[in-house]
Amino acid sequence: MDWNSPTTRKHIKEAEARGCKLLGAGQNRATRLYRLTCGHEQLVATAKMRQGGFRCQTCMAEKLNQEAEAQGCKLLGPGRDANYRLYLLPCGHEQEIHTAGMRKGGIRCSSCLEDRLRREAQVQGCKLLGSADNPRYRKYQLPCGHEQEVHTYAMREGAVQCKICLYDKLEQEAAENGCVLLGPGKDTNYRVYRLRCGHEQELAPTSVRKGSFRCHTCLDNKLNQEAKEKGCELLGRGRSKAYRYYRLPCGHEQEVQTGDVRRGDFDCKVCRSEKLKQEAEEQGCKLLGSGKKNNYRLYRLPCGHDQEVQTGDMRRGNFLCQICEETSRSLPSNLYLLHIKVDSDEWLKLGYAKSVDNRVTRYGLPEAALVKVVKSVPFETGNEAHAIEADIHKRYRRKRLPREQVEFFHTRGGFDECYPITMLETLLAEFEALKQDQPR
Ligand SMILES: [Zn+2]
Ligand SMILES: [Zn+2]
Ligand SMILES: [Zn+2]
Ligand SMILES: [Zn+2]
Ligand SMILES: [Zn+2]
Ligand SMILES: [Zn+2]
Repeated sequence: MDWNSPTTRKHIKEAEARGCKLLGAGQNRATRLYRLTCGHEQLVATAKMRQGGFRCQTCMAEKLNQEAEAQGCKLLGPGRDANYRLYLLPCGHEQEIHTAGMRKGGIRCSSCLEDRLRREAQVQGCKLLGSADNPRYRKYQLPCGHEQEVHTYAMREGAVQCKICLYDKLEQEAAENGCVLLGPGKDTNYRVYRLRCGHEQELAPTSVRKGSFRCHTCLDNKLNQEAKEKGCELLGRGRSKAYRYYRLPCGHEQEVQTGDVRRGDFDCKVCRSEKLKQEAEEQGCKLLGSGKKNNYRLYRLPCGHDQEVQTGDMRRGNFLCQICEETSRSLPSNLYLLHIKVDSDEWLKLGYAKSVDNRVTRYGLPEAALVKVVKSVPFETGNEAHAIEADIHKRYRRKRLPREQVEFFHTRGGFDECYPITMLETLLAEFEALKQDQPR
């Protein structure tokens, strides 16, 4: 090497700029031997010395050695690339490890890990065969002889199920219940089956095992048919299994229990409330809303008071305003006995009212009815008249005419206090007794 050549002088200057010293020739034209700033001697490419892209290999090895010793390991030599080195681990196994990983610590010996996994597999009656694509999985031979990839944690916990054996089992259970297992379902809890009827459906294997399933397609077909038979149209699902949405014969859409449709035992709520509204109007009332009980509704009565009335009573006009009634009970009233005759039917009617004639019009009797007042006794208050009336009814309640016998004539009310003609003398005697008790 010519120390006085312009090239060498240039190399000396470039080395000095990096705090290094040119010592001599390298193993080829591109490298030279230098003493680095740390004092170590090293071959460095002249271009790298110019640009500063080099490190002291000796210092680096010392650092890696120290880092390995700090982890109880020993640096043995180079690894697969610049980032890896071969180390001797505390357990005695040799392993390539990333230098940064060694610096951080927490090194795990993969040989020891495989040994452990092998032992864990043995405990479960399995055999470790090799690695899997997923580093958390290994390939094992299961006790049944089938090979399968299993999560190492599942193997340790003994939570291993052979998928092939499971499939065989599900297939057999399906066959026992007239089904064919077709494949996986929406999640691990479901499978797709072909049912006896030929339709395909997702089912939980447990319900197949128990035979506790039905074909939704067949059920829908059946419900469709049942709906058609009752003039309805099945529209869709309802709030629960027992319900579906239907278009009713009237055209309204409503949720109905499937059983009710089958039996034809359903009512359109819209039509029904329309009907109740109309029935109320016919009685001079107005439907305001629902009642506390199912067969009650809130109405505005002709007098202007609001009251809950049974829908059937509203239809027949069989209601009294409790507020008006209360006031009328403190006003003068009459206890009366009527003889009513419609063609060949005749009966007696006992009651009390401020005005007997007015009361009669509220029975809704047919026009042909002949009404004769047999007796009418005045009282100072409705309360007194009512007390006497109630007492008589109580004593003769077994003699009263059943409601069904007079309901036909009493279309609007008063059918609960009627007696047969044979009771005439008995009732007259009651009126006679009144006169003696309280002469007026
Ligand atoms: Zn050095
Ligand atoms: Zn080891
Ligand atoms: Zn198996
Ligand atoms: Zn089916
Ligand atoms: Zn309707
Ligand atoms: Zn009123």
